[in-house]
Amino acid sequence: MTRTRYAVFGQPVAHSLSPRIHAAFADTTGIALEYTAIEASPDEFSEVLETFAAQGGAGGNVTLPHKEAAVALCTTLSERARRAGAVNTLVRTAEGRWHGDNTDGAGLVRDLTGRHRLDLRGRRVLLLGAGGAARGVAPALLDAGVQQMVVVNRTPARADALVDALGEPARVIARYWDDLRELGDFELIVNATAAARGDGSGFSLPLSLVNSMTTAVDLNYGEAAIPFLAWARASQCRNRADGLGMLVEQAAESFALWHGVRPQTDPVYAMLRERDVLLVTAD
Ligand code: NAP
Repeated sequence: MTRTRYAVFGQPVAHSLSPRIHAAFADTTGIALEYTAIEASPDEFSEVLETFAAQGGAGGNVTLPHKEAAVALCTTLSERARRAGAVNTLVRTAEGRWHGDNTDGAGLVRDLTGRHRLDLRGRRVLLLGAGGAARGVAPALLDAGVQQMVVVNRTPARADALVDALGEPARVIARYWDDLRELGDFELIVNATAAARGDGSGFSLPLSLVNSMTTAVDLNYGEAAIPFLAWARASQCRNRADGLGMLVEQAAESFALWHGVRPQTDPVYAMLRERDVLLVTAD
């Protein structure tokens, strides 16, 4: 049986769960494929991707730090990738070009509304971060009906650029990290930063951000989610979630783009939760 080639590109990427997730989807759907993790520095990414295509690569996922750079390597983009200015899914076209899409936002919304049963409509949302992940989830949260989104990033110019790109000044505003105390409270706080990948000292956010309804979501999972979710627990956020559900759901969206079948996600989520990713939100 011919196994079509897929891969995730990033740096670092060795610990990515994507190969396991796609192997599990392949098993349950009966679709033969090979999915590997390919390390590429920002300087190497373009060349590594072309080599992969020359060797029969049919599609890929793009992770930190290449999501924004991948946009320039695609000949065509989906509407959601264009709005995000970031690509997490590559599809090789019949003409031998890359088509870029972004399934991160759909993955997060599906996890929040399906798995966690949250109604996002009318909610006030604080989005921490303005990198590739924040760019991916912001349009989908807006489409899910949030009432207002405040974007706060360590580097303010990046938050400004994201807000400008979203083009909804009445609903989306950028604010400085130092102003967090003056922003009021939020029903949803999304950590889309990679802060915990640094020294981990990351999260000292004001309690005033939290109300009786607040859900805190970290796009990170495992150890990288500990600082933010520990803050959320200490601040008595009503619900807390890590990024494992989003990871599985965005992978299923990519799988559907490549293979035309959306796999069941709950068994894969349960398998990873049991074996790999402790639920650090547990009391
Ligand atoms: P990225 O493009 O490199 O952006 C990193 C973001 O984190 C930027 O906003 C950056 O701010 C901020 N940041 C980094 N260190 C910080 C610190 N010490 N304090 C405050 N902010 C800091 O990365 P990304 O692709 O957006 O990914 C962000 C995180 O989301 C990663 O940890 C990734 O694993 C996770 N993620 C999870 C999923 C999932 O499916 N669960 C999907 C995508 C991403 P500056 O602009 O100031 O540098």
